[in-house]
Amino acid sequence: MKHWFALMSDSHNLFDTLQKFDAGSGVTGSLYSLPQLEKAGIGPVSKLPVSIRLVLESVLRNCDGKRVSEQNVRALANWKTKAARTEEIPFVVARIVLQDFTGVPLLVDLAAMRSAVARLGKNPKLIEPLVPVDLVVDHSVQVDFAGSAEALRRNLDMEFGRNRERYQFLKWGMQAFDTFKVVPPGIGIVHQVNLEYLAKGVLSTAQGAKSGTVPLYYPDTLVGTDSHTTMINGLGIVGWGVGGIEAEAGMLGQPVYFLTPDVVGVHLHGSLREGVTATDLALTVTQLLRKAKVVGKFVEFYGPGAAALPVVDRATIANMAPEYGATMGFFPIDSESVGYFRATGRPEEHVRLYEAYYRAQGLFGMPQKGDISYSADLDLDLAGVVPSVAGPKRPQDRIELPNLKKEFVSTFTKPVTENGFGKSQDDLARNFEVAVQNGCSPGGGSQEPVSGAASKAQNTNPYTELEMANNRPTPDMINGGGAEVSGSIRHGSVLIAAITSCTNTSNPSVMLAAGLLAKKAVERGLQVNPLVKTSLAPGSRVVTDYLNQSGLQPFLDKLGFNVVGYGCTTCIGNSGPLAAPVDEAIGKFDLVAASVLSGNRNFEARVHQSIKANFLMSPPLVVAFALAGRVDIDLTTEPLGKGKDGGDVYLKDIWPSLQEVRDLFRTTLRPEVFRQLYRDFAQLNPKWNEIPSSTGNVYQWDSTSTYIQEPPFFLNFKLGSGTIAEIKGARPLGIFGDSVTTDHISPAGSIKKTSAAGKYLLEHGVSYEEFNSYGSRRGNDRVMTRGTFANVRIKNLIVPGTEGGVTKVFGGIKAAEGPVTIYDGAMAYQAQGTPLVVIAGQEYGTGSSRDWAAKGTALLGVRAVIAQSFERIHRSNLVGMGVLPLQFKEGVNVQTLKLDGSETYDVLGLGPNLKPQQDLTLRINRANGQSENIPVTCRIDTPIEIDYYQHGGILPFVLRQLVGASGNSSPAKA
Ligand code: SF4
Repeated sequence: MKHWFALMSDSHNLFDTLQKFDAGSGVTGSLYSLPQLEKAGIGPVSKLPVSIRLVLESVLRNCDGKRVSEQNVRALANWKTKAARTEEIPFVVARIVLQDFTGVPLLVDLAAMRSAVARLGKNPKLIEPLVPVDLVVDHSVQVDFAGSAEALRRNLDMEFGRNRERYQFLKWGMQAFDTFKVVPPGIGIVHQVNLEYLAKGVLSTAQGAKSGTVPLYYPDTLVGTDSHTTMINGLGIVGWGVGGIEAEAGMLGQPVYFLTPDVVGVHLHGSLREGVTATDLALTVTQLLRKAKVVGKFVEFYGPGAAALPVVDRATIANMAPEYGATMGFFPIDSESVGYFRATGRPEEHVRLYEAYYRAQGLFGMPQKGDISYSADLDLDLAGVVPSVAGPKRPQDRIELPNLKKEFVSTFTKPVTENGFGKSQDDLARNFEVAVQNGCSPGGGSQEPVSGAASKAQNTNPYTELEMANNRPTPDMINGGGAEVSGSIRHGSVLIAAITSCTNTSNPSVMLAAGLLAKKAVERGLQVNPLVKTSLAPGSRVVTDYLNQSGLQPFLDKLGFNVVGYGCTTCIGNSGPLAAPVDEAIGKFDLVAASVLSGNRNFEARVHQSIKANFLMSPPLVVAFALAGRVDIDLTTEPLGKGKDGGDVYLKDIWPSLQEVRDLFRTTLRPEVFRQLYRDFAQLNPKWNEIPSSTGNVYQWDSTSTYIQEPPFFLNFKLGSGTIAEIKGARPLGIFGDSVTTDHISPAGSIKKTSAAGKYLLEHGVSYEEFNSYGSRRGNDRVMTRGTFANVRIKNLIVPGTEGGVTKVFGGIKAAEGPVTIYDGAMAYQAQGTPLVVIAGQEYGTGSSRDWAAKGTALLGVRAVIAQSFERIHRSNLVGMGVLPLQFKEGVNVQTLKLDGSETYDVLGLGPNLKPQQDLTLRINRANGQSENIPVTCRIDTPIEIDYYQHGGILPFVLRQLVGASGNSSPAKA
């Protein structure tokens, strides 16, 4: 069977660009030549930013006159540094990467599409990914156990126990779809696995072979369902995060459409000074680029400083692109990229091909000043970067290390309305005693996640009472035994110290620095307070190999930084429970406790529900702050603690030199280790093999499952084309302030027993111990819709003074008295057929890409979101789910309009002739009978999005295309 779009990929020779080249190792290859495009007079290609040229290659190669036109090629070949950005680029990517939280729901949708196609009497195999899809299971591991040699095994056991049903479903997907591969749990983190293993740099197609010519080679490009997909930009590969909805469409042959971007050049020069890490550089770049307003733009690093940075440092900077707001943080291809491919064990012929391809395309080598014209040019002297942390709430709020104490105290005492913690200076001096049972050998700073008494006064089993952060402990965990340890905690105490996140775990220089610092600390006799929950979650087993080879892991272990799992853990909020007495004390005394992590995000309640101040920093600084035990400290002048000789030990005494790190770096990274550790996943994880899998092309849905359910998107699917109509009499479900994140909209982490999702699970026989996290239940729309806008920190201005997902129902509609959960409110409105809107401030939908933030919004019955500005992916996901994004004009907001939720809203001007970004009218009908009309911008940004919106979303659109194009395909056996 051949799809209409597969037919289109047959080779063409537009502008005589299909050319041969020497692919090395005696092989002749073909490529779509960018230099030839310039020679043919189509545009000044060699002056374009490298990232634009790589997208241009895809546009040229996939030019078929339908999805991609010759005009698209000409327009991009003539990209201008400054222009009105109205043209959309149809970008057909070479492959797709997924993590399991976003990947499982995507597979659920594919399975649902197959079911819909089967119901229409067509061949379900019509639904098949057309490009390679790799899903890495990395988001499900949680730090239930930490600080012991057993932590890794026990966390893995718990992960498999909790996620068996999801993993069975993934195994069904592996056999049902030809191009869908899974990297099982316990192997690594998606972006690090991508960097170290999945990325090929250059791909080839059988197309050339088919037509009897030489193989056709083309650049490795991708989209991923995780915003930090940009890590791969450090290796010269174009790719970024998209919503699951767009990724699905990409898999099914749709180009990823995006507006022609500005490209901001960042000229790097100089080199990092002693004591400064790649993490410090990444935080500095994040702050610099946030200020430069690079949202929606490509960023391209170049110059001698960029050339001198190893790929792993480039990857750390590229990974933070979502934090600085850019679509990509791209580093061009050069000899460092070639060296990285070689060092990570990629086959030698492939490495030679890789270099030969980019040389033939004129894309090899780091550009220097003047080589390329950018939309804006920034300059950064690497020698000016200083040790830094970022927080306590946003990654772009960088603080130079000596200023952390001052900044923390200032935020601590600032009013809540000014984003502070609203405490008094006196509060800082108070100490609170807690006692916990230490599950492991004393003195090592180790701690089991749960332990004995909540406090001496309440010496009962606390776990029947206390809702832990992610789940409640098992009796086995409680029986950790060991001595009771006690200590004091206070505002500013570090209670979580996590070496986490692919941002840093992919970078051996900072991981080795953490190990070296731990070694020196142990040798000086420093210890970590056992009340600090310490963890190390490498992004691949390669990290463990080099930390063992270098003899550093035992020192990390001594400080409690035992390996807890190979996955995202604390970075994604899977930090697991704190010891119960500690958690109780935080709640009881409303402590502003701190986490220190080598992650990239620190929004409220992301790291842990109970931890309010979260600071991002390099792995060695994580170890240092774990030793110090508090964040209100100036580590440049105050000691970390007392050494075994009784003397003060300062950070500078144990900080490793650049030379020490470099020496180890050279000796510990070995290609054969990469080859071995990425050869046989099944062998590395026998638990995965034990999971049974169902078979067949159509999934047999189990209506009793609380993990996997057939979503309602295609249940009544019909062929046709849909309509665009005005929205009348809508009620606001929520009115929110600025920076509502996707974590607020579609929460990750724990499910509260009292929440709508919690009640649903209890009603369906799931005990609280088995709730698992929202992320793991994204395959069940019933849970996720109930979890939408259910974040404990979200503030709905319709119910002033409250926190959590509550709303008020207006219009005489029957609902419970007083505030109700947003889910219950939405259902009450839905029962009356009342359309809903959500109103918000700046940066609506910022944070991780979460397709459920849009899916849940749609399933609650929200027809439009009206905000001051939108985050890129979330805006497109809203359109992808048939929800209309509208933007207030400059200077207009909830406050200027004096909205309180009692209004109804009409969106006027919507109709069949809707144009991208056109003005529409929002009519506000107030409770006192007055109405006013205000202009709003329709943030459907591209013509194809109009189609998606008209069809009720991208999936119905694609499904109609596929079924419509399939003719009389006969149904295959399920
Ligand atoms: S470690 Fe963090 S940034 Fe990396 S994939 Fe996991 S959640 Fe995303």
